[in-house]
Amino acid sequence: MSLDLIVTNATLPDGRTGQDIAVTGGRITAIEPGIAAEAAQRIDAGGHLVAPPFVDCHFHMDATLSLGLPRLNQSGTLLEGIALWGELKPMLTHEAVIERALRYCDLAVSQGLLAVRSHVDICDDRLLAVEALLEVKARVKPYLDLQLVAFPQDGYYRSPTAARNLERALDMGVDVVGGIPHFERTMEDGTASVKALCAIAAKRGLMIDLHCDESDDPHSRHIETLAAEAHRLGLGRRAAGSHLTSMHSMDSYYVSKLLPLILEAGIFAIANPLINITLQGRHDTYPKRRGLMRIPEMRALGIPVALGQDCVMDPWYGLGGADMLDVAHMAVHAAPMTSREAIRWAFEAVTSVPAAVMGLEDYGLAKGCHADFVILQAADTIEAVRMRPTRLAVVRRGKVIAQTPARRSTLDLPGRPASLDPASYAPKDAG
Ligand SMILES: [Zn+2]
Repeated sequence: MSLDLIVTNATLPDGRTGQDIAVTGGRITAIEPGIAAEAAQRIDAGGHLVAPPFVDCHFHMDATLSLGLPRLNQSGTLLEGIALWGELKPMLTHEAVIERALRYCDLAVSQGLLAVRSHVDICDDRLLAVEALLEVKARVKPYLDLQLVAFPQDGYYRSPTAARNLERALDMGVDVVGGIPHFERTMEDGTASVKALCAIAAKRGLMIDLHCDESDDPHSRHIETLAAEAHRLGLGRRAAGSHLTSMHSMDSYYVSKLLPLILEAGIFAIANPLINITLQGRHDTYPKRRGLMRIPEMRALGIPVALGQDCVMDPWYGLGGADMLDVAHMAVHAAPMTSREAIRWAFEAVTSVPAAVMGLEDYGLAKGCHADFVILQAADTIEAVRMRPTRLAVVRRGKVIAQTPARRSTLDLPGRPASLDPASYAPKDAG
């Protein structure tokens, strides 16, 4: 039998080395050492890491690449970012949103990022961004899974037409119910919005993902309501709480009650470390809070935590490059969690965990899964987080859709080697 593609001498995320990956009809048909078969295309992974594609389960594609339009965020706060986005919104055009989103997806593919959950603002009665991103979703489908969340950026109750627009967006084909309880006018309105949005998700049989407690206010406790409602309605893994930054500032006794409640509800938590660490703590002098949910404690309890990117060059964040390993790298530092086991987890938190958040089918490196994977210029997943290495090849449904030459430096130093491969620095004795 002739294969469409064979990748030889791969190291897998679970640590197995010397593996060959056989691909036929867009699916993985075997993973084992020494596969002897003809193949239309052969790629020698050279012992490098081959991983399933990166997944970003928290992003804003309607705002990406708009940095500087119509001006820059001077204070660096979430609230000025929201105000700035409010200034830009009436100026958006269908064509410009599509062009920026497609351009962003090009960059994402080059980085091996092949699935994105994007919130899309529905607080614009034209629903211009919704229409534009639904078109983008269809256009990128051959190479990137785009899932959309109906996101009432200006508040489900605070924005007079948000409730109606949210239903309209879901009717148009937006996949997931969104919300922003901490941005409602009062705590009570925030609580009511969580209940209303969970009811919509339950009634429509949809997933729900709320921006929740993105604040340094230790009394912002909407995650408690989200967990309780998800539990009552049986939403379980269909529900996710994004950000949860107020948890950083909460009283630890209260957190000791909250975390078991989140675990019991069975919902996902999504931290966005690049954004959380830059937007939060802005009103502090010193010490400055980090504004990150309590990831090590949540992991220890068994709560599934994924990491998202949130923003790339938009009103909230001027940096970013569609590199989910930047996100993992920041999480390791900011949490902090530097054990070998925790760094391995950080890689999973930008691959398999967010794939579960999005409910991606046939995702992973196993027989029968889609032949979607990335070859990285790194020895293993810890090295990938350490170096954020070159994506040598990106494969979607068995076809190579992006390639980048390996990084190699030449040296001119007396008595030293003439060239250097950064991947060769993988520690031999660290375990
Ligand atoms: Zn967000």
